Amino acid sequence: MKLYSTNNKNNIVELKEAVMKGLPEDNGLYMPTHFPNLPTEFIKNLKQYSFQEIAFFITSKLFQSYLPEEKLKEIIYEAVNFPAPIVSLEKQLHILELFHGPSLAFKDFGARFMAKLMGHFNQSEASDLTILVATSGDTGGAVAYGFLDTPGINVVILYPSGKVSPLQEKQLTTLGKNIQALEVNGTFDDCQSMVKSAFLDEELRKEIRISSANSINIARLIPQSFYYFEAFKQLDDSSNVVFCVPSGNFGNLTAGIFAKEMGLPIKHFIAATNANDVIPEYLKSGKYEPKPSVRTISNAMDVGNPSNFARMDDYYCSTGNIINEHLKGYSFDDSTTKQAIKEVFNKYNYTIDPHGAVGYLAAKAHLQTNPEDNVIILETAHYSKFKETVDTELGFNTEIPERLKVLQSRDKKSTAIEASYSELKNFLTK
Ligand SMILES: *Cc1c(COP(=O)(O)O)cnc(C)c1O
Repeated sequence: MKLYSTNNKNNIVELKEAVMKGLPEDNGLYMPTHFPNLPTEFIKNLKQYSFQEIAFFITSKLFQSYLPEEKLKEIIYEAVNFPAPIVSLEKQLHILELFHGPSLAFKDFGARFMAKLMGHFNQSEASDLTILVATSGDTGGAVAYGFLDTPGINVVILYPSGKVSPLQEKQLTTLGKNIQALEVNGTFDDCQSMVKSAFLDEELRKEIRISSANSINIARLIPQSFYYFEAFKQLDDSSNVVFCVPSGNFGNLTAGIFAKEMGLPIKHFIAATNANDVIPEYLKSGKYEPKPSVRTISNAMDVGNPSNFARMDDYYCSTGNIINEHLKGYSFDDSTTKQAIKEVFNKYNYTIDPHGAVGYLAAKAHLQTNPEDNVIILETAHYSKFKETVDTELGFNTEIPERLKVLQSRDKKSTAIEASYSELKNFLTK
């Protein structure tokens, strides 16, 4: 499998380089040079395949024997080891639950796949690889669980002290083994700039091998296309299928575009955002105008300059498809989103998280003008990750799943450091 940089189509690399490096030097993003055209027989007979079989089939076509079949199978079966069920609210309105993984968010799919793939590529190296991640909360948990017990790889997570939720902190600090947490006396931006300094430090890089687990890594997008097929498979009526994607950096939506490009008959996408509405505004005006992000209750979508816009833009420019024919955008403010959390519970007896609630609002708005469509909302996280908000809106103490309860009794293990690069360097080289 080969990939090019969105900043230079002649900059072509093999999958291993794209995955291990994350980003090309020219600051573009890696895009596959080809998407396979999946056989119509496969799409027609999706119901006969398990989720893992679907994932394996797609990846083997995409990778084109870049990895031995047995190895690829092992990676897929370890990475995709939890379900993505559909819950139907109405005949034409469905929820795709993507939170059945270890960190209770869809990011588990990408993080697990990337970890297994990096673990495989790293086997031929003589020394261990250290993955450095700065997190404001969610990504760190998925990465920590994804890489847990991966031979030859250590993970160092930097998070801002006191600025992640208690639950998120538990996810970052209680796993142990090859996962270490650095509690930084500073902000998320400090954490990010410390990580950046490490990557620019030639002296450090002579001593240890480092890599990132950034959300822009192509290895995180590939597995996110699998569940579009898995969702489609579960529908009784698969005509006029529209996916509604609560979006921040637009990785999920980009993976959906990949699924469509590979032959899944998706009629349309809906980009659902909170007040951070750069893409919905772009779809209206044709002008891409990034702006500073604003804080909302669906905070995993508080993104003012979505990193995957470069991939979407590249895709629509190079295929000649027209973005407005594939994609509609809607944005909603927090008070409307809070209303939606209540509405979904009262109307359907379903507890939805704030991100899914933004998706619900967009789906409803879309159905008003397109009543023939069959809409699947991606529920990107379990509501317990945002328990305070959800409990306040619903007015009772919502049940938390067993696997979260277990976390609460575990002891936090972190190393406190100041927000200075020299402290990070000391830690990494000691
Ligand atoms: C990361 C995240 C999103 C945004 O996904 P993108 O792929 O960045 O658009 C939405 N919801 C939740 C819960 C997330 O963690």
